[in-house]
Amino acid sequence: MKIIIAKTAGFCMGVRRAVEMVMVAPQEHTPPICTYGPLIHNPQVLELLEERGISILETIPAKGAGTVLLRAHGVPPMVKDELTAAGYTVIDATCPRVIKVQSIIRKHTEKGFATIIIGDRDHPEVVGLLGYARGQGHVAATLEELQALPAFPQAIVVAQTTQNTRLFGRIKEWAAAHRPHYKIYDTICDSTEKRQSEVQCLAALVDAVVVVGGKESGNTQRLYEIARESGKPTFHVESEADLDLEALAGAECIGITAGASTPNWQIRKICRALESVPYRGRGGWRGWLFRLQRTLLLTNIYVAMGAGCLAYTAVRLAGQAPFQPYLLPAMLYVLSMHMLNHLIGSQADHYNDPERAKFYAEHRVWLAVLAVAAGASGLMIAAAEGLLPFAALLVMSLLGLSYNLRILPACLSGGRIARIRDIPGSKTFLIALAWGVVTAVLPALAADRLPPSTLPAFAWATGMAFVRTAFFDLLDIQGDRIFGKETLPVVMGEAAVMRLLKRLLVLLALLPPAASLLGLATGLGWILPICPMLLGALIAAHERGRILPGIRLEFAVESHFVLAGLLSLLWSLLTG
Ligand code: SF4
Repeated sequence: MKIIIAKTAGFCMGVRRAVEMVMVAPQEHTPPICTYGPLIHNPQVLELLEERGISILETIPAKGAGTVLLRAHGVPPMVKDELTAAGYTVIDATCPRVIKVQSIIRKHTEKGFATIIIGDRDHPEVVGLLGYARGQGHVAATLEELQALPAFPQAIVVAQTTQNTRLFGRIKEWAAAHRPHYKIYDTICDSTEKRQSEVQCLAALVDAVVVVGGKESGNTQRLYEIARESGKPTFHVESEADLDLEALAGAECIGITAGASTPNWQIRKICRALESVPYRGRGGWRGWLFRLQRTLLLTNIYVAMGAGCLAYTAVRLAGQAPFQPYLLPAMLYVLSMHMLNHLIGSQADHYNDPERAKFYAEHRVWLAVLAVAAGASGLMIAAAEGLLPFAALLVMSLLGLSYNLRILPACLSGGRIARIRDIPGSKTFLIALAWGVVTAVLPALAADRLPPSTLPAFAWATGMAFVRTAFFDLLDIQGDRIFGKETLPVVMGEAAVMRLLKRLLVLLALLPPAASLLGLATGLGWILPICPMLLGALIAAHERGRILPGIRLEFAVESHFVLAGLLSLLWSLLTG
């Protein structure tokens, strides 16, 4: 089964901005924090806000305290005044594009124009816009409703920003013919336009369309209507629980789109559920392989195998003896740290990777025992190799364990940086550094020497681990942003990190042959560029939407380390 996700699916700029503003509000503004009405029409995001103690203010009391955030849809101007008069601090998260429509209405109302809003009468954005018309506003949901309105001597026509573009097109035609003196403002947001035209094209390409978003969300409903008009089976779901997997099982190609208030973790959950449809309850090697991949990834066994393979590669690249127990400390360290990280610090897993979060919640105890046992075994093996490898692994383990712990008193950092994880981008760099040390430096220390050839091996292993970690961070960016995890993509932005990864992969392809040429690495350096080149091709395929986030993408990324190990083994066998 092929799955195509619409490029425009998920949070629009205005919603993302409002969600980010509300998530940082508890740290930056006076508590209690609430939103005036539901922030967006998405039950999962509203649940998340509730969990974080952010409540919804439905009516304005005579006296209040704390901070109120105005949602992306905006509010009538008098609401702001009433909230301020009641004693609240008001944070305006109204989308800048909605503010632009409000300004158009305000300006024309002052000049005596009537305002006609083409939209849903009860939608909060329309209610807010009406407030700016100061009693001179009218709402028409259809062309017939517009025709039924009296002819005003002077009027403007604006659209709800998420209005159906085809309906507004018909309105414009009718107004040009029958009310030519009306001033028409096409205020449909370009994000809405793109989303709607994309779903039309998408529906033509696929066998079925899944539209993800809240049942109350107007723009999601419009996407559903547009997809359904194509004649293709169309399903509007809020979560993966609503998916009719039986009905979708026969589809060869499924298109997914989502409303402007749907978070991307919700889209990923749907994607993952659909990805498993062809293998549900089926035997055969494909079903078996899919389940094996999923188990290896969930248990972190595959990532640990990758670390072992990378250690073998680094050692062969540096020209050290191939048969040492150095693979084990690297594998056990990576296994232990990944498990502990998921067990201790990753609230964001709940959203970024719900299947993993569920797995860790269900098997908490034995995974914790396994993580501690793996960490302790790695240290014991390293100790048997010598004091230096033991000390290096101990330092890396303590660094990993303290990542989520408060190690600085709040007074020293103004409360902003109390844990290593609070240092912006630290996660990506530290994981890469740890992989480089345990896979390249540790074996060299175990062999009682640190030759110059360790340096290119360390740089290559660290670089490959950096690309892997930063790429996964890119996939998790929305959940990480929501939970205030300052990963590299959150700090630098997605486009900048993507550019960085591509450049780094070019360097990683050049480094091993250059080191071989300079005598700083073995002949293995001539083969290893295959790995960064393939990883670059995979990232590019994902960027073009050819491979979607899910088990297969994760497995493919981790496989580059296994491939490096296999190439190293082959090279060792061929060269003796
Ligand atoms: S759809 Fe457009 S106008 Fe509406 S909140 Fe999103 S970005 Fe703003």
